[in-house]
Amino acid sequence: MPPGEPSDPYRVWVSEVMLQQVRVETVSRHYAPFLERWPTVEALAAAPLEDVLRGWSGLGRYARAHNLHACARLLVERHGGRLPEEEATLRALPGVGPYTAAAIRAIAFGRGDALPPVDGNVERVVARLFALGWEPATPATRRRAELRRLASALAPATRPGDLAQAIMDLGATVCVPRRPRCGACPVRAACAARASGVADTLVLGARREPRPKRFATAFWVSRPEDGAVLLRRRPLKGPLGGTLEPPCTEWRPRKAWRPAEATRSAPFAANWRRLPGRVQHALSSYEVEFAVMTAPALTVPPELGNSGGAAWVRREDLEGEALSSLARKLVRHALTATETRRLAPRRRARVRQDEAGHSVENAGGVCPG
Ligand code: SF4
Repeated sequence: MPPGEPSDPYRVWVSEVMLQQVRVETVSRHYAPFLERWPTVEALAAAPLEDVLRGWSGLGRYARAHNLHACARLLVERHGGRLPEEEATLRALPGVGPYTAAAIRAIAFGRGDALPPVDGNVERVVARLFALGWEPATPATRRRAELRRLASALAPATRPGDLAQAIMDLGATVCVPRRPRCGACPVRAACAARASGVADTLVLGARREPRPKRFATAFWVSRPEDGAVLLRRRPLKGPLGGTLEPPCTEWRPRKAWRPAEATRSAPFAANWRRLPGRVQHALSSYEVEFAVMTAPALTVPPELGNSGGAAWVRREDLEGEALSSLARKLVRHALTATETRRLAPRRRARVRQDEAGHSVENAGGVCPG
């Protein structure tokens, strides 16, 4: 919550959901416009899901937007548009886990009996305050139980939400994962990790196993007359549900798609060519690597975009659409690669002119737009 913001449960809930694994600076760009557009639970519940996904654009992990929307509808239907105070009722709502329930109870309702909300930031701060180093093999459940116990011991009986927010803010801005800014820290005098000189070297979590990899091929189609881009909406259930993306193959494990095999999933038959380079993107449980193919402009069927869930999106509208960060990477990659390809013959022509002793022109850059 921004400083000075009243602890309205709806606002606390939205900010806590937005802040899950997203940087504070990113959230602060999206929080106010979101609340301006949907200032109440009722307004959010009445909005079409597509609009909410569009409003979520830039925050990633779209399942949270789905849950927020489903939850708003449920609150209107069953709870008179109000967030409940009791933990069990909160936890029964879509997307409300132990952390969000604890944050809402402590921050919005000031419940002294609330379990302290413990996210990654709080875990790090508490571990450092008590200089809790871990063996890399220590199970996450044991670490978490210990951190929760210590965080509970810190929480005061009155206004527990203030302490929770203060620790979260400290973790997000001062006690950051690498090179904590101990000199500027308001609790440095009480910090055991700082006193023993291990603030930056304490082992805070288990080493992450590398994520498994999946492979896909995307199809870049740009309408010849105005450069609009062909996008389709992903199924509502599943990763990045409801967001827009260039049409693509299935995301399959183990094996990259050979071009001839991939084009069986292309939106139309054409002489598809692979663009240079690949796009890598990490999702929460795996990584996906994309090749991108494109077809000659003249082969694009004019009726495309009117069927099969695909639509043309003008380039100037891309920014405001519900594209996941993966889809944005694919768009940037394709724009850069196709423009480089388009400009290459001109550059070669300029070189030939120079060699022939004619006037020299400045080399053109790559224009991504
Ligand atoms: Fe974190 Fe340093 Fe503050 Fe300790 S003194 S809580 S390590 S920033």
